[in-house]
Amino acid sequence: MKCPVCGKGELAKVDDILSEVGGFAFVERGHRCPVRGEEFIDQADSDRTVKVARRLGLWGEPMKLHRKLSPSGRGVVLRIPEDLRKSMNLKGSETISLAKVGKKRILLEVQSP
Ligand SMILES: [Zn+2]
Repeated sequence: MKCPVCGKGELAKVDDILSEVGGFAFVERGHRCPVRGEEFIDQADSDRTVKVARRLGLWGEPMKLHRKLSPSGRGVVLRIPEDLRKSMNLKGSETISLAKVGKKRILLEVQSP
């Protein structure tokens, strides 16, 4: 199977994909592209990670929250949903760091309470 991202690499079966949820590492099976290292997690293992993460209370439901950004001045605003805010004890005065991960992901990390 060719890599759907770069279209060049031949995907290899792997069993050492690491996903981090709430500071816990989950090992999953899937496929990896030898060209740029893109990883594709098997659906069954991905489901298992979500299940275990929920049991550990690492993430409320749903696992993925969909929110719209709002334009504000020259920037955009992301509103943190109330359930997530509560589960993380956010007061709204925290300092956060943003890291761009790939083309479509932003990692948001709370720096100080
Ligand atoms: Zn690839």
